Amino acid sequence: MIMSTCAPSPFDHPKADIILRSADGVDFCVFKLFLTLASPFFETMFELPQPADGTGDDTKDGLPVIPVPEDSKTLDTFLRFCYPSTLAEDPLLDSLADILAILGAAKKYSLDLIEKKVCQALVNHKVLEAEPLRCFAIAYNARLKHETITAARYTLRQPLIPAWFEEIELITASDLLALLTYHKKCAIAVAPLRANLDWVTNHYGSLNSCKWLVPEMQNPNRSYYGTPDPTTCSCGRSTQAEFMLWNNTSVSWWATYMKETFELLRDTPCRDIVKSEAEKTIQKVRGAGCTLCSARVKENMEEFSELLALNVEKATASIELEMHF
Ligand SMILES: [Zn+2]
Repeated sequence: MIMSTCAPSPFDHPKADIILRSADGVDFCVFKLFLTLASPFFETMFELPQPADGTGDDTKDGLPVIPVPEDSKTLDTFLRFCYPSTLAEDPLLDSLADILAILGAAKKYSLDLIEKKVCQALVNHKVLEAEPLRCFAIAYNARLKHETITAARYTLRQPLIPAWFEEIELITASDLLALLTYHKKCAIAVAPLRANLDWVTNHYGSLNSCKWLVPEMQNPNRSYYGTPDPTTCSCGRSTQAEFMLWNNTSVSWWATYMKETFELLRDTPCRDIVKSEAEKTIQKVRGAGCTLCSARVKENMEEFSELLALNVEKATASIELEMHF
């Protein structure tokens, strides 16, 4: 027989009236009333004849012991959801493994309310960031509209064609097709931002307000006592006709940023790409040795990438995930 240990507060209350023993031998002293109120399953379970106090094998300190298949970690989380919030706060679920374990228990014990609460943990940023497709499948399987749509949005951070993921069996091929269609439509919605730069010119208003994009270039014929002129740019202008502003060619590194970012947005139409590419550009420019650009690239690219990120979000916001709930 496993040596049992006692669970921590509030599951060690001296006035508790029943013990749930986890698979790994931890005894949770609980009040039947709280569990009964949380789930009809427990009501039925407690109505079954119990051995009289202190008689049967399955008793401890005069309380009946009910062994359950869940481990102590799952049981602890799960019981905290059942208890009133004055005694135990709802536990924080920030890993998909924990969420799935609790969801399994909630389903098994028909704790509908807890199932809902647990699924809401699916929209936890940390979980979504790590496993958007698994969250999508779990949320849609539970027909949670808000959670499914939120998870779909996070899948835009991953390539259009996903790798196999654990809960793929929870959704149908039609569901997956709906997700891929949504992803593709978002990518298409972002594309016009590349061809038409009104969103840039409208934001800055005039060439004078964004000189960093179209800086004065160093004149190689002008001697500046042997040191580079700090008031002019040595980066060079873009040779491409694309990304011109007010009919001026832009500084070359910005045109490169735009070209590379828009290439990536075709597969992952989301703000994260815009921001991470900007970060790389800042490092690259600082490493390139143009005094003028190095000094101001961070501030300007942070502002600019935020502008592009907002426009990407705006373009994709109206795209609907066509699924039934
Ligand atoms: Zn420069």
